[in-house]
Amino acid sequence: MSIRLTPDAVYERLTSGTPNGAGLEVPLYDYDVVIAGSGPIGCAYARTILEDPTIPDARVLMVEIGSQDSSVIGEHHKNSIKFQKDIDAFVNVIKAALQDVSVPPGDTYIPTLVGNGWTPPVNNGTQLIFQGSNPNQIRELNLKASAVTRTVGGMATHWTCACPTPHPEEIRNNPIPQAERDSLFQRARELLNVHNDQYEFSMRHTTVKDTLLETLPAGRNVQSLPLAVERRSDNPAYVTWSGSNTVLGDVASYGDRFKLLSETRFTKLILDNDTPNLIQGALLRDLGNDRDVLAQAKAYVIATGAVGTPQVLANSGIYPDTLGRNLCEQSLAFCQVVMTPEMIDSITNSTNADWQRRIAIHKASHPTDPLPIPFNDPEPQVMIPYTTDFPWHCQVHRDAFSYGDVGPRADARVVVDLRFFGKQEINPNNRVYFPQNLARDWIPGNTDIYGMPQATFEVQRSHLDSVNDQKMMRDLCAVADELGAYLPGSNPQFMDPGLALHITGTTRIGDDPTTSVADRSSRVHGFTNLFVGGNGCIPDSTSSNPTLTSVMIALKACEAVSELLRQPTTA
Ligand SMILES: Cc1cc2nc3c(=O)[nH]c(=O)nc-3n(C[C@H](O)[C@H](O)[C@H](O)COP(=O)(O)OP(=O)(O)OC[C@H]3O[C@@H](n4cnc5c(N)ncnc54)[C@H](O)[C@@H]3O)c2cc1C
Repeated sequence: MSIRLTPDAVYERLTSGTPNGAGLEVPLYDYDVVIAGSGPIGCAYARTILEDPTIPDARVLMVEIGSQDSSVIGEHHKNSIKFQKDIDAFVNVIKAALQDVSVPPGDTYIPTLVGNGWTPPVNNGTQLIFQGSNPNQIRELNLKASAVTRTVGGMATHWTCACPTPHPEEIRNNPIPQAERDSLFQRARELLNVHNDQYEFSMRHTTVKDTLLETLPAGRNVQSLPLAVERRSDNPAYVTWSGSNTVLGDVASYGDRFKLLSETRFTKLILDNDTPNLIQGALLRDLGNDRDVLAQAKAYVIATGAVGTPQVLANSGIYPDTLGRNLCEQSLAFCQVVMTPEMIDSITNSTNADWQRRIAIHKASHPTDPLPIPFNDPEPQVMIPYTTDFPWHCQVHRDAFSYGDVGPRADARVVVDLRFFGKQEINPNNRVYFPQNLARDWIPGNTDIYGMPQATFEVQRSHLDSVNDQKMMRDLCAVADELGAYLPGSNPQFMDPGLALHITGTTRIGDDPTTSVADRSSRVHGFTNLFVGGNGCIPDSTSSNPTLTSVMIALKACEAVSELLRQPTTA
């Protein structure tokens, strides 16, 4: 299906980018719901709508700027046996997956460049702006390590899968009533396939957990980390990590009611002055063919990440004062320890018959190995949850991130990672902002490398945040001390701001339009058929990992989308 637009209409209504050339034939996709973003939140929306028996014919178009990198839509890359055998190698996958959000222009003057190489003129007052750098970014206010993942499946193609339920203090601003939240959380856990018992037979896991249970006060509530993971029944040495595919469900069963457009940018929503509260369409850009595409639907869902979602709204001219504000990002303290000899001895001397059987098999194959731990013994996955007295979320585990590979420094079987996440006070002045009118305000560096308005951070931690961070670091050191000695090179440290990749608040939900962007159903205030999704919807200061909460919020929103689709007309 296609519609024919006059050149004037194309320029007026579509504005950005080059029109498609002679004839201006613009393909049109006509669906019931258009979802921007194929991460776990876009997929939670898609599945819930597609499996809703009250709207059995509903058709969903999903638009994703990244490419599909696995044969299964949005699968977790860590399901490859290669990475389960060599977790260090996965660090490079994550590094490659992360694209920085805001990079101040570098100092490209190279004093040692001699000979015939171009160098910028010295002291002429201009800044060299290379593609993707942001001249507006003030270094001190940046979330330097904040990044996005542009691929089918979003960040859930590499995430750690930690899904703790937030403590009541981490969810007090959420406008969804608690009883409703509890059942939505349960459905979110099912969609993400969350378990907390998949590591119980592991020697390392049990030893780390028991050591903390014995040495920390009972009030710390040491427990197994709830993870979106399931051990494989055909070979329990491996696990299946939940990716966006897990959330999306059985795509084949949707038939032609579901379509995914990859390497397609959701550029902007099309508004009409005559019906200001109703989105009329969506302008997309087919990146491979470099041409504009239109989509029409009854409902529009923007779930392009905590930076990408306000970015699409801003590019559409939907820029309430609350957009991008109340941004919170978690501080992240990290270290790695090598377990104590006592912990290793407790494995050797364990009375657990299954352990002794596995140790014997290992020793028979590897008689010179000084460690009793079989090579395929799963890693520790332990949590010390947020409490009022210790208001931070602690993961005592072993996993890949964009840092923290062990390499040849130590035997990976005796290394434990400690990642402690600290909250940030809510402050409307902490924000990500975008140039509002690219045609008018365009200056070099004002778009990102995908041609969307450049995101600029203005984020500062408060005095209270610093005090809290200091206490969290002291706690990290105390917990580490119970487990062993610091792995040289991985001493306790705060990671660069933004590295937690847990930005919240930028499209927060709430009942009051002066302090929120969308209502409790994630419907953007002032609009009938526009919904947002993702961690940006979380209105609280949190230290627990956010994805479970964002899925919970999206499930609530789907009820409103469903109601909208059941209405005979949307006008
Ligand atoms: C190393 C790492 C570890 C993590 N560990 C955890 C953890 O243990 N627990 C946890 O809760 N969270 C964790 N996270 C974060 C988690 O992955 C995110 O919270 C989650 O993926 C957010 O889902 P989303 O769908 O809102 O956004 P995303 O997963 O970011 O997906 C958004 C999608 O939108 C696409 N997009 C952006 N702009 C456009 C556009 N204009 N047009 C079309 N498409 C667009 C992007 O390409 C992307 O695919 C981790 C992330 C990383 C990278």
